[in-house]
This record gives sequence, structure tokens and C-alpha cells, in this order.
Amino acid sequence: MNSVRLLSAGVGDAFTARHYTSCLALGVDRDWLLIDCPHPVRKVLREASARAGLTRPLDLDQIGAAAVTHLHADHACGLEDFGYYSFFALGRRATLLLHPDASARLWNGLLAAGMEFDQSNTAAPPVQKQLGDYFDLIDLDLSRPVSFGPFSIECRRTIHAVPTFAFRITAGGRILGFSADTAYDPGLIDWLSSADLIVHEVTNLVHTGVHTPYEKLAALPESLRSRMRLTHYPDDFDVESSVIEPLREGRLYEV
Ligand SMILES: [Zn+2]
Repeated sequence: MNSVRLLSAGVGDAFTARHYTSCLALGVDRDWLLIDCPHPVRKVLREASARAGLTRPLDLDQIGAAAVTHLHADHACGLEDFGYYSFFALGRRATLLLHPDASARLWNGLLAAGMEFDQSNTAAPPVQKQLGDYFDLIDLDLSRPVSFGPFSIECRRTIHAVPTFAFRITAGGRILGFSADTAYDPGLIDWLSSADLIVHEVTNLVHTGVHTPYEKLAALPESLRSRMRLTHYPDDFDVESSVIEPLREGRLYEV
């Protein structure tokens, strides 16, 4: 069995002033899968891998693909970085894995405003670009796992304001579960429960909205809580007294 590692690179919620936002990197051997992609993603990865003691800073040239849960900015605003850096600095397209409902507005609703025109030659008019010029988009599927390199990715719809998908990712004989953003959903937690390590979002805000209150997760059985780590937490979340271990930014975990 290979060592399967999870680098926690961004643990804050959308309003954080202390952390980077949702960003994980799952590694098996020399392959890395990025899970969510906030801006400035190269700095996010560099700082996390330095703090975690990786011998070589993790950078986009080592990232095979990014699996993205949904298009809220705290999860997806680094995709322009990923696409442009891959195209101009690495000379290749960036690979993205999303469910089609999550990617439906990826170009026209999010990326085109900043990526639609290229003027590498300033003596010529700008050239109009499409998503496929910068990205290879692979559709995730609710009914079957989708493979990319050593990673096999299953997805499940969550309860959130925009189309959002939780992941179960199998690699190196281990399974990582990631809730993505979601209101409390016992069915989702049951789906995630087969994973060796479960990363679940949490909030302590009074108006929890489409996020999961800490009290709901704290009431889960110990057998489940012991395999669960928390992320996407507000700046005033009490990490020291949480009965479920919160992920720390810049730390490496065994899956
Ligand atoms: Zn969200």
C-alpha cells in the first residue's frame, strides 16, 4: 500500500482574515490532485508545503489536475491562475474535474471575463479564446467513479446555494471523503462514512445558512468523529476545544 498524504493548504471560510480559503492537495507517490483552487494558489501551496516540511515546495507543475466542488470564489477563484500559469509558464492545459452542473457556468459565468481575450502579440488585435484553449475539462458522474491517474473520484450533490458536489476519492488503497460546502445532511455524512479520512466543513455562525453547525457534527458517534477533520471554519472557531480535530493550515495528514 502506498503512502497517501493530504496537504491542508487553506482552512478558512469565505470571510476569513486569518487563513487561506478551501484548498487541499491529495498526494500518492509523486502524483498530486488539487481539491478546490483559491487565489493565489501558488502562494497557498508554497506556504503550506514549506510549513509541512515537504522537501520540495508543491507547485502547479506537480499538480496533475484540480477537482473543484463548486464555483463560489473561496473555492474556485484560483482557476484563472491555474489556467494562465499552465498555458504561459508550463506550456500545457490545466486539467479540471467537475460535475457538469458545477461547471455549467465555469466559462461564461466565471472565467471568460478575465480570460476571453489574449493579446500576446500587441501589434495584432486580441485573439478570442475558449475554455478548451486553457483547460481540459473532465466530467464527474453521480453514477460512477471517474479515474484520473491514480485517483478515482466519486461525487454526490450537497445542500448549497449553487450546484456543489462532495467527493469520495480513492487512491493508493485509501479513501478520502470531502463534504465540500453543505448544510447539515445526514445522508451525505452516511455516504462519506466509508472513507478512511473525512474532511467536513463546519460553522459556528448563528445564521448557519447553507453550512453545517458544529453542534450537529459534535453529536456524531465517536467512531465517526475520530476519522473526521474539520475545515472551512470561521476565524473565531474554537479549534482548541473542538471535539473533532480541525485541520491546520500547512500540515500534512496520512489518509
Ligand atoms: Zn460555497
